[in-house]
Amino acid sequence: MGHDWNGYISIGEAARMNDHCRIYCANHLCDHSGRLDFRPLLRKYPPQTGLGKVLKTLRCQKCGGLGATPIAESGTKEHPASPIFCARVGRGTHRCDPAGQCKDGCRLDAALPG
Ligand SMILES: [Zn+2]
Repeated sequence: MGHDWNGYISIGEAARMNDHCRIYCANHLCDHSGRLDFRPLLRKYPPQTGLGKVLKTLRCQKCGGLGATPIAESGTKEHPASPIFCARVGRGTHRCDPAGQCKDGCRLDAALPG
C-alpha cells in the first residue's frame, strides 16, 4: 500500500501547533520513533512546503528504512506547546509571541478547529 506523502499539512501549518512533532519509522516492523524539530526545517525549506515531502526523505537510524509518519505532540500543562508561528488563522506565518500579542488565545488548545 502506497503512502500519500502529499496528504500532509505544510511545515508552516505544523509550526502553528508546536515547534516539533513525534515521528515514527514508516516500517511498522521497526516503529522506531524520534523527534522532528521544525526550526531547522524552516531554515531549509519555505513554510508552504508539504510536511510529507520532508517525511519521505527521512532515513530511520535503526532500520535504515526511508520515510516517517508524524504524530502531533500537543502541549501538556507541564510542557505547553510552543508554536513557532501564531496559531491564529489569518496571521500567515507571523512569529508566535507568547509574551506579547499572542498571549491570549494563540496557543494550540485555543486554535484547534472544531
Ligand atoms: Zn526503522
